[in-house]
Amino acid sequence: MSERINIVIDEEIKIEEILGRIKATHSDYFKLSNYMRGLETKVAELEKPDCVWTQEFEGEWNGTCGISWGFIDDGPTENQCNFCPKCGGKLIEEQP
Ligand SMILES: [Zn+2]
Repeated sequence: MSERINIVIDEEIKIEEILGRIKATHSDYFKLSNYMRGLETKVAELEKPDCVWTQEFEGEWNGTCGISWGFIDDGPTENQCNFCPKCGGKLIEEQP
């Protein structure tokens, strides 16, 4: 386990101590649990695999998650598409 992670865990223990010392209310715990849920969302985002898009000859684009997508002009990069709208993974345009 990295030292960075140990520091975070130590801080969590301090947070529990602080919550006890200030006699945290239901509202305090509720706010903190919402904050922790936000961190879980961030972890899920970081764990999402990239979605690699390849283009059919002059046609639709197919992503590794199974999406098919058509652009009126150009491709994902020119249309500022950075994430797949189906799986939410980082969109990687495969170069031919
Ligand atoms: Zn995708």
